[in-house]
Amino acid sequence: MSTSVAFIGLGNMGRPMAVNLAAAGYDVTGFDVFEGARDAAAAAGITISATAADAAAQADVVITMLQNGKQVHDVYTGTEGAPGVLAAAKPDTLFIDCSTIAVDDAIEAHRLAAEAGHRNVDSPVSGGVVGATAGTLAMMVGGAAADFESAKPVLTVVGGRVVHCGKPGAGQAAKVCNNMLLAVSMIAVSEAFVLGESLGLTDEALFEVASNASGQCWALTTNCPVPGPVPASPANRDFAPGFSTALMAKDLGLAAAALQSTGVDAELGTMAGLIYSRFAESGGAGLDFSAIITEIRARSAA
Ligand code: NAD
Repeated sequence: MSTSVAFIGLGNMGRPMAVNLAAAGYDVTGFDVFEGARDAAAAAGITISATAADAAAQADVVITMLQNGKQVHDVYTGTEGAPGVLAAAKPDTLFIDCSTIAVDDAIEAHRLAAEAGHRNVDSPVSGGVVGATAGTLAMMVGGAAADFESAKPVLTVVGGRVVHCGKPGAGQAAKVCNNMLLAVSMIAVSEAFVLGESLGLTDEALFEVASNASGQCWALTTNCPVPGPVPASPANRDFAPGFSTALMAKDLGLAAAALQSTGVDAELGTMAGLIYSRFAESGGAGLDFSAIITEIRARSAA
């Protein structure tokens, strides 16, 4: 008998992940509060249940792919008219939360699942809709070693690289640290290009030097914020995402919460959060996060 999976949250990321699990032979039942998401998943061949709890009651594994920590908490414990999945699931069900949420919220989700007699791992992802569709997401997993091993077969279907990062919350910790690093490096690369241009350097010359020197990084060589040197980067198609500024601003909000709760003084990470929220609020939300270079240019010209 195939493993049954309840998939809660069938949005941009959840739908293709659920489709890949079904294609790999898992018995997938999905649920989403949004009718459009339910219809799109049904059209892609996913069985839809009436409630999240109904899906969870039948499942060996419950995956959530939601927008924020409050939604995960609500789906786990239930709200008025929507029974929680923790209470509905069979004893010792494996819960995998793939949403990007605060480290503290992930630890609370583990606690709630354990209290209800279940296993839980946090497994935020990196790789966007392209990676979700191709089944090549990077999966960052927090939880007990045995629970990681139980989750691995499922995670290997939706992800290309599956890393056990440590205890509960460690997957979210890895994600928030990586994205804070990415934000700072993208701003730094963009500032260097704008300065180079103002000094009379061509973008091609700076790219040729920096990509082969100590300035080399992913923001430069894969997601280059100027058109030309890296043909596949969003800068070549008017900054269509890619990884949107809205999501980067969200992740930097989670980084700010982690900085606050740990007392770590990350000046550049904090500044990156301010820069990206300002850009998101002034019209950049839907653009790839590398479009921050346009904001730096605009400020520089003023
Ligand atoms: P999305 O908004 O497209 O999908 C989330 C879905 O959850 C929506 O369809 C929404 O209706 C549903 N939902 C909300 N509350 C619910 C509830 N109580 N019960 C059932 N369904 C509910 O978002 P997404 O782009 O799929 O992102 C999901 C998560 O993955 C987010 O945490 C995001 O930060 C993270 N993420 C996204 C990307 C990306 O490129 N989109 C990349 C990496 C990580």
